[in-house]
Amino acid sequence: MPLSRDADTIAAVATAAGPGGVGIVRLSGPNALVVAARVASARVSPQEQPPQTLRRAVVRDPATGEEIDDILLAVFRAPNSFTGEDVAELQGHGGDVTLGRVLAACLRAGARAARPGEFSERAFLNGRIDLSQAEGVAALVAAQTVAAQRAARRQVAGELSRAVAECGDHLRDALARIEASIDFPEEVGEIDRAAVDRALESAQGRVGDLLATFDYGRRLSDGVTVVLVGRPNVGKSSLLNALSGRERAIVTEVAGTTRDVIEEALNFNGVPVRALDTAGIRETEDPVERIGVARAREAVETADVVVAVLDATTGWTPGDARLLEELGSRPLVVAANKADAADPGPTVAAARAALTGRVAEVVATAAPEPGGIEPLRSALGGILGSEGAASASPAVVISARHAAALGEAERSLAAARRTLGEEGPAELIAVDAHGALQSLGQITGETAREEVIAGIFSRFCIGK
Ligand code: GDP
Repeated sequence: MPLSRDADTIAAVATAAGPGGVGIVRLSGPNALVVAARVASARVSPQEQPPQTLRRAVVRDPATGEEIDDILLAVFRAPNSFTGEDVAELQGHGGDVTLGRVLAACLRAGARAARPGEFSERAFLNGRIDLSQAEGVAALVAAQTVAAQRAARRQVAGELSRAVAECGDHLRDALARIEASIDFPEEVGEIDRAAVDRALESAQGRVGDLLATFDYGRRLSDGVTVVLVGRPNVGKSSLLNALSGRERAIVTEVAGTTRDVIEEALNFNGVPVRALDTAGIRETEDPVERIGVARAREAVETADVVVAVLDATTGWTPGDARLLEELGSRPLVVAANKADAADPGPTVAAARAALTGRVAEVVATAAPEPGGIEPLRSALGGILGSEGAASASPAVVISARHAAALGEAERSLAAARRTLGEEGPAELIAVDAHGALQSLGQITGETAREEVIAGIFSRFCIGK
C-alpha cells in the first residue's frame, strides 16, 4: 500500500450545499457505528443494526440532548462498504444549518472532519477501487453533459482499468520471453524476436487507440469555448439560438457576463460548450463600443473555435477582410449567413479567397430555416469530435494525467520495438518494456507515488 492507513473515524457532509430535501452525513472508520450510537437514538442501537439496512432514529446534540433532526440511519460493515471500513450514513434533511449541526454532533462524539477526497482515498487504499475508478467518481459528479457523465461512468465501472490491464498482459508476455532468454540462454536460446514484437505491437496499438480518444475525452471533461464574431446584425445571436435549440448543458450562470459578451452554455455532440456572442471586432471611436470590442478580442484569445459570421445579403465587405485577418491562428469556421435571403456564393468565394493558406471551413447558413445551420453544425462537429467514435473504443480517456501516462508508455514501447528491430541488447528492450508497465501502472495507481496519489485525492470535492 502506497499510503499509510490511519485509524481515525472520519465524518463529512456527503450531499451538496444549499437547501435540499435530503442531506447525508457520512461516517467511516473503526468507530463509525460507535459515533453513530452516540448521536442517534433508535430502538435498536446502530451497533446491533443489521448491515445494509435503514432504521429510523433521532439525532441529538450529545452535549445538551437537544433533538436536531429525524433521520434514517444506514449501516455498512467492513469490508462491505464504499470505503471498505465500517460506515454509517445519517440520512436526514438537507440544508446547511441542519447538516452543519449533525456534523458538529458527530465531531463532538469522536469523529474527525474528513479531508477533501478522504472517503475515496480510503476506498482506494483498502483496494475497493483503483485510482482511475476513484478519479472516475470525481468526473461523474462533475459531469456537465450526458456524454461526459457516460464516459465517467464507464471509467468508474473499470473500463479504462481493464483496457490498461490488457496492454499490461501483452507487455508481460513480451517480458517473459525476453527475460527467459537473458536468464536461461542455454535452454531458451535467442529471443523469438517476431513473437516479442507481436506482443509489443499489440500493447502499443492498444495504448495508441486509448490515446486517440483523449482529444474528444478532454473536451468532454474540460468543455470548449466557441466565440462568435462579426458585424452587428449579421445574425450572431440568431445562430447562437439555433445552435442552442437542442439539448442544453446544465451550467450555472457565470458571474461577470456583460451585455458586450453574451454567454450561453450549449451541449454540442455531448461536449459542454461555452458559446460567447461578442459585439464584434471592428475599428470604432465610440469609447463604450471600444470596451465591447476589447472584450471581444479577449474572448477570441481564449477561444477553442472561432465562428466568424458574414452577411450574404450585404456581401463581402472590407470590414470582413480585416475581421478574418484579426482572428490569428485559432481554429476557424466562417458562416455566410442569411443564405435564405441572398445567394451566399459570392460571399463564400470571397471568404475562401481571403483565407487562402489557412485551415478554415467556409459554410453557408440560414439561421431561421429548418436545417439551415446544419453546415455549421457539421463543421463544428469536425473540429470538436463526436461521441460515436468514443463509444466504439474500449474506454475513453478523459483525464490529462491518464493521457500523459499513456504517452510515456507509448514512447517506451516505441523505444523497445526500435531496439528489437535493430537487434539491440535484450536487456535494453526489457528496461523499456518495464518502463511502459511502470507508466501504465500510474493510471490504476499501482506504481503511482504517494505524493501523486495524495495530490489527486486532495483535489476531490465530494467529501466536504
Ligand atoms: P447579431 O447582431 O449579429 O447578433 O444579429 P441578430 O441575430 O440579432 O440578427 C439580426 C437580424 O437579422 C434579425 O432581424 C434576424 O432576424 C435577422 N437574421 C439573422 N439570421 C438570419 C438569416 O439567416 N436569414 C434571414 N433572412 N435573416 C436573419
